Amino acid sequence: MQKRLEKAKKKLSELGADALYVTSEINARYLTGFDFSDGSVLITKNESYVLTDFRYIEAAKKSITGGYNVIVPDRAKGDYLENLCRENDVKSLAFEDNVLSYAGYQSLKKRLPGIELVCAGSLIEDLRLYKDAEEVENIIAAQRIAEQAFAELLPEIRAGRTETELAAELEYRMKRLGAEDISFKTICVSGTASALPHGVPRNIPIERGFLTFDFGAVVNGYHSDMTRTVVVGRADDEMRRIYNTVLKAQLAAEAVIAEGYKNADADKVARDIIDEAGYKGCFGHSLGHGVGLMIHEAPGLHARAGDAVLEVGQIVTVEPGIYIEGKYGCRIEDMMEIIPGGARNLTNCPKELIEIPV
Ligand code: ZN
Ligand code: ZN
Repeated sequence: MQKRLEKAKKKLSELGADALYVTSEINARYLTGFDFSDGSVLITKNESYVLTDFRYIEAAKKSITGGYNVIVPDRAKGDYLENLCRENDVKSLAFEDNVLSYAGYQSLKKRLPGIELVCAGSLIEDLRLYKDAEEVENIIAAQRIAEQAFAELLPEIRAGRTETELAAELEYRMKRLGAEDISFKTICVSGTASALPHGVPRNIPIERGFLTFDFGAVVNGYHSDMTRTVVVGRADDEMRRIYNTVLKAQLAAEAVIAEGYKNADADKVARDIIDEAGYKGCFGHSLGHGVGLMIHEAPGLHARAGDAVLEVGQIVTVEPGIYIEGKYGCRIEDMMEIIPGGARNLTNCPKELIEIPV
């Protein structure tokens, strides 16, 4: 955490502000390693503070080490922030303009007369782009739980079971295996609903055709993300062609993704394969996204990524899909970590087409 604080201080000095006021819970957790709500972090040139309340103080003092003063300000007075700024000779304060509401900004301005407020932009989010060893470990731990839960679920998929039931079972298994939470509402959609990339599980028996699971676990605040599509019944020629095209597109993108490779080009490699197979217009979302303390974060793998290239420490999903409106759809998703000179796949789950007998 000390390292993250030092990095934040460096960014702050580049920005030219005297201090940074962090109000995003996720960014505060990133900086301190502590999961608290209703608190904030103040970073000045010399001293840094975790401002929390009595509900969290004991746990915060125990778990936050190095670099921070953990304090419980007297909120009734309302001038604690101003006092801390004066004590530390803060004349300009950077605030999280992506996070703070307009009302919050107005109140901050009122509470800090004579102190210049500066937009911090994505100062902490930019640091979060590059995962350190501890973060990678947490994401891998979450992924191992998700794939173990899926391996346990597979023999349980049978005709007659409902989408909601299978989604619930997957979530239960992830939690039983140690996940503190699920990454997002589990997607388990079959038949025509599989044509919806973000469909919601229905309380009906799984239908014949594609059955898509998109799900993840959370460990120490870090998310995992994976998608697998199986077939209920026998796959006909068209379904086989769709599945193999999606897999081919994914493997091609995974083969080129590496340090220095353009984000937009990764998307293009997968998209071209899908287009050339005759499914132009059927892959209606981007190839992938970053994963970390949030399920969707930077960087994005899409055509609008400009000249952005993949950099060491980034973790991105690779998730092409083909969706035929009103009929069915198929997606396969892995997570990859960009490492020096290359990339490694963090997902350890087979991708051969699985047919569920009915
Ligand atoms: Zn996903
Ligand atoms: Zn995803």
